[in-house]
Amino acid sequence: MSYNITGHTRLGGLLGTPVSHSISPMMYNETFRLLDLDFVYLCFDTAGADLAGLVKALRDMNVFGFNLTMPEKERILPFLDDLSPAARMIGAVNTVKNENGRLIGHNTDGTGYIRSLADHHYDITRGAMTLLGAGGAASSIAIQAALDGVPKLHIVNRRGRSWQNALRLADEINRSTSCQADVTDMADLNTLRCILEESTLLTNATSMGMAPNTELSPIADVSMFHPNLLVSDIIYNPRNTRLMQDAAAAGCVTCNGMYMLLYQGEAAFRIWTGMDMPVEAIREKYFSR
Ligand code: NAP
Repeated sequence: MSYNITGHTRLGGLLGTPVSHSISPMMYNETFRLLDLDFVYLCFDTAGADLAGLVKALRDMNVFGFNLTMPEKERILPFLDDLSPAARMIGAVNTVKNENGRLIGHNTDGTGYIRSLADHHYDITRGAMTLLGAGGAASSIAIQAALDGVPKLHIVNRRGRSWQNALRLADEINRSTSCQADVTDMADLNTLRCILEESTLLTNATSMGMAPNTELSPIADVSMFHPNLLVSDIIYNPRNTRLMQDAAAAGCVTCNGMYMLLYQGEAAFRIWTGMDMPVEAIREKYFSR
């Protein structure tokens, strides 16, 4: 592996904690190499860091931009100069572009997710969607699905930390888009069964089933699955979650979160450079199942 760092090389990176496991440096640096761009991308672990100071330093160093991961997606908001309309509705940012010293926040998690469905020939406007979770990733997916024309969105969360956010999301979507959104308590199994019956897409955006808790699934009653349901888990570790295994056994098509990760990166790259990422080469090298 050789990269030609010069006196003109522009820096970008990922802020969050933990970040050492991230695929992003490989994905972007390989893209820069393939397209002969004089950019480099590094990870910066923000544990114990002063985020305001870090952002000032990045601005002063004239970075081309950066990504945010947990727990910085919301904490970054006060340090930015402006937000895209979707990032404003979501209330979180995963991509920042430096536009001549002005830091503009975007959120590509939702667009990345919707783009990943196209690989399964699924059009978000086709039918009702049930979305499990109301945390950061779920917020991006909910808002983007509504902006992209999902007719009905059922948001399902436990009455926990994110319950109020679930209500806020449904309210924002009902006020600002043509999508009809509602909220269901995950413990209300009768309603869960009814909304799954009318849904053609089930998306798990909770962390239930993520390593190391791979035995967990947000849908314990497997009789709720039906073959017209695409079951999409945004978890990618493990690649085949318990939810996906149960749904596949019930005859559902399933997919994991690897391609959401790829396509949110593709969208971020386009925001920074205006160019298309060589997605097939990157998919083959880092995202093959
Ligand atoms: P988050 O903001 O912490 O949200 C987690 C969600 O899961 C919340 O709705 C939470 O409910 C719910 N939850 C957690 N444990 C639960 C349990 N035992 N029972 C029921 N609900 C539970 O996290 P996030 O950033 O949205 O990430 C969520 C998942 O998506 C993670 O597995 C992450 O790896 C994955 N992800 C994937 C991608 C991708 O590109 N593929 C991108 C981002 C995230 P409460 O808050 O109410 O407890």
